[in-house]
Amino acid sequence: QVTDTLAKESPSSPSYDWFQTDSLVTVVIYTKQKAINLDSVIVDHRDDSFRAETVIKDYSYLVHVALSHEIQEDFSVLVVENVGKIEIVLKKKENTSWKRLGHPQENHNSIIPKKDTGLFYRKCQLVSKEDVTRDTKLFCLMLPPSTHLQVPVRQHVYLKLPITGTESVKPYTPVSDSLFSEFKEPVLPNNIYIYFLIKIYPAGFFTPELDHLQIGDYVSVSNPERNFIISQLQELEDLFLLAAGTGFTPVVKVLNYALTNIPSLRKVKLMFFNKTEDDIIWRSQLEKLACKDKRFEVEFVLSAPTSEWSGKQGYISLALLSEFLKRSSDTSKVLICLCGPTPFTEQGMKMLHDLNFSKDEIHSSTA
Ligand code: FAD
Ligand code: NAD
Repeated sequence: QVTDTLAKESPSSPSYDWFQTDSLVTVVIYTKQKAINLDSVIVDHRDDSFRAETVIKDYSYLVHVALSHEIQEDFSVLVVENVGKIEIVLKKKENTSWKRLGHPQENHNSIIPKKDTGLFYRKCQLVSKEDVTRDTKLFCLMLPPSTHLQVPVRQHVYLKLPITGTESVKPYTPVSDSLFSEFKEPVLPNNIYIYFLIKIYPAGFFTPELDHLQIGDYVSVSNPERNFIISQLQELEDLFLLAAGTGFTPVVKVLNYALTNIPSLRKVKLMFFNKTEDDIIWRSQLEKLACKDKRFEVEFVLSAPTSEWSGKQGYISLALLSEFLKRSSDTSKVLICLCGPTPFTEQGMKMLHDLNFSKDEIHSSTA
């Protein structure tokens, strides 16, 4: 066994080690944290570069080396949660004995604030593209076998494309393939597909380019960025979701997570604001879910309905919110999530303060 662990690390800092058999090399990361799982680590190898980024609260611990020998493309990642250990099992191309894991690269074996790690991208292949509404599509991208990446609930990634010779990026929030797909995160490995609901703006800069991609084309996907702390969901009793247009995308995984993972949950109510009926993303799935799970209710509000629409109308308003946001009891633990165009979110935030909800009870995502 060969050890590269930094002796000078303080006891609470993560460290790594590696060992080998004839055919395998196992890189072990000791996070010294219990709250880790398969979405805590993002692994990529490309040519001889091997990079494993372990996210620990607001920090990243990096193992980043130029491997001393060649490995096969695929690998496996295992997490031993109760001891905070991550094992990455690489397959050697040749059964030779390695004297060292490799040459250290930038930030190797160091813990740095996550905001300073920079965005790391890998190329993903477009596998399918389906119409969802007249302007919104469900894109399915496939991760390369040389990447392990799972996007946790309420995180977004950046997509990158070359546009007129310049690398251009925009943020997007991964969803599941439907509201009924079994909730897999964060326990099962090998989620190789990432789904996105993306609205194409004909006069937009980025989305027409995305729309021009053909099946089999590549788009670069960054590491996830967090905009929501999952602990806010624990012990929750009432979850209210206020979404407008594609501001629905963060709702997908939160809804799925909440209905599956929060035993204390009594109700989840979604108020979904759109221009017309045709703009409502996954309307029939939402209605089916409301029939299937009595804790879930959905209400649609249209800002430009046809004369046949008998439901609620208009923009977000104090009247709509005060009727909608009823706690199941005076003391129930509540969270309200808001996401949509900036004026929608700003007006909504102000109204929620006027309705005496506290800052801790509100989470908003701005455009
Ligand atoms: P842009 O060029 O930004 O234009 C958008 C629209 O505004 C077009 O109709 C354009 O004509 C109009 N416009 C542009 N400039 C002006 C102007 N000066 N005056 C008036 N109108 C103007 N979107 C999704 O579809 N799905 C998601 O999951 C998603 N997740 C997101 C997550 C986060 C954290 C954030 C911040 C945004 C997210 N978005 C999402 C929005 C996404 O990042 C892009 O902003 C969106 O796709 C528009 O990109 P675009 O370059 O095509 O359009
Ligand atoms: P849209 O133009 O189709 O409008 C949807 C609804 O938003 C309208 O029916 C209306 O109720 C409300 N709305 C629009 N303009 C408003 C205004 N000026 N005042 C009050 N309410 C208004 O929306 P869209 O084109 O789907 O845009 C969705 C927005 O959500 C984008 O700005 C996108 O960047 C943002 N988004 C953010 C995130 C995130 O995580 N931060 C994720 C997805 C989408």
